[in-house]
Amino acid sequence: MKTLQNLIGGSWEDSLGDALLDIVNPATEDVIAHIPGGSPEDVGRAVAAAERAQPAWAALPVAERVARISAWADTVAGHAEELAELECREMGKPVGVGRTFIEGAVGGLKASAAQALSYSFEETVDHPDGSSTRLLRHPLGAAAVITPWNFPVTMVLGALGPLLAAGNTVVVKPSERSPLSAVRLFELLDLPPGVVNLVLGDARAGAPLAEHERIQLVHFTGSVEAGRQVGARTGDMLRRAVLELGGKDPVVIDSGVDPVSTAAAVAFGAFINTGQICTSMERVYVHQDVADEFVAALVEEAEAYAFGDGHDEGVMMGPLVDERQRGIVRRHVADAVERGATIRAGGAEPDGKGFFYPATVLTGVDESMLVMSEETFGPLAPVVVVSSFEEGLERASRSRFGLGATVYTDDPAHMAAAARIPAGVVWINQWQGGGPERLYEPAGDSGLGATGSTAAYDAATRPASVHLAARSAS
Ligand code: NAD
Repeated sequence: MKTLQNLIGGSWEDSLGDALLDIVNPATEDVIAHIPGGSPEDVGRAVAAAERAQPAWAALPVAERVARISAWADTVAGHAEELAELECREMGKPVGVGRTFIEGAVGGLKASAAQALSYSFEETVDHPDGSSTRLLRHPLGAAAVITPWNFPVTMVLGALGPLLAAGNTVVVKPSERSPLSAVRLFELLDLPPGVVNLVLGDARAGAPLAEHERIQLVHFTGSVEAGRQVGARTGDMLRRAVLELGGKDPVVIDSGVDPVSTAAAVAFGAFINTGQICTSMERVYVHQDVADEFVAALVEEAEAYAFGDGHDEGVMMGPLVDERQRGIVRRHVADAVERGATIRAGGAEPDGKGFFYPATVLTGVDESMLVMSEETFGPLAPVVVVSSFEEGLERASRSRFGLGATVYTDDPAHMAAAARIPAGVVWINQWQGGGPERLYEPAGDSGLGATGSTAAYDAATRPASVHLAARSAS
């Protein structure tokens, strides 16, 4: 069976480490490939290649870097179906769902790279005394991008635009659970050798990469636990980190909204990608005026949410990525039921192969339960009935996480109040979206470092000022 290789300085190479990991199709439980476990030697070679390539890449005009990135994005777009098929095999996402997200990510890559054309990499300020200051934004050098498995292609593309367009080179370490699509993504790469390098493996590659002394920025997307370790190491090294971590996003549903269409939107937000999205709706607060109709409609939605192998026609939800992830979902449901919650839909695992779990609706939950306090990352919609919009907002804000939040309301005063939820992004009457202008920093344990829009360029560059004294009159 095939063992995947690393991409170092433009060449595909075997790992220098001995350990091998199985890649398992979560729908069939078949081993479909092997990857290296990762080694510091691989990381060292990749970082050296990135450093070697960086000066020439940074010396290209910005417009040329943007054009090269955009051309690669177009190539990726032409392979969206193939990449989605690989994602389906390695982590279970239905092919149609994957293709839609990959197409969106390609657009995002192009848009975020194109922001370099208007970003101020250099400007001169003239002072009244005749002196002047040049304000420069230098690229950092070699950066690391470490990604999770839930959107294997999207997460990589989402990080690369500003880093590369600003003149940095990159070492990417994709998740050990979903490397097939990342490898294919870089087989399609048409950038100078060493501008993007790929090292495979688990924390045995991730940790040495995050703490490599020549890595100037770590863009890490993943769990709070691993993010803490990365942040501790980069802090110790006095290097930058952008940490995009886990969440427990709330959705607040006001009286006066249409309960049936809102239930359909919440089902999508809670169950798409089998609930394995950092901004999945994981806590539902519904106003008592619409609660009965809303819950009935949500149960109907959940029961109609077809799960199965993501290659099959009509499947809306694939398996969870692995048995460990399914175990978390099982544990959260059992804990909730033990503490008095009621399963209104789903909750029973099917027999047979594959790490499947049905779309599940729970009522009678409260914040003492794991399902309301810890990230589940599974297809669960736990519903709390609240007596006012204010109560919903207040309880939505009570979490150690602060990634995103969604509010459904027709009341302009409540729309304004929604901004009080401590989260990086608040969506009103929609879920997801905002385009490349979306600027945010996660609140609480959900991450560190502003990103998106100009903040992504601020993070990818180091500001420096060059001050020129006034000429003395002769
Ligand atoms: P994870 O933290 O286990 O792994 C993420 C990546 O980090 C993997 O590539 C892994 O190999 C690597 N890694 C693990 N330990 C490391 C260490 N000590 N040093 C360096 N690298 C290390 O997360 P996961 O299970 O792959 O992904 C799911 C998590 O990611 C969820 O918590 C989810 O909410 C989060 N996530 C966040 C966002 C966001 O934008 N905030 C987006 C997607 C996923």
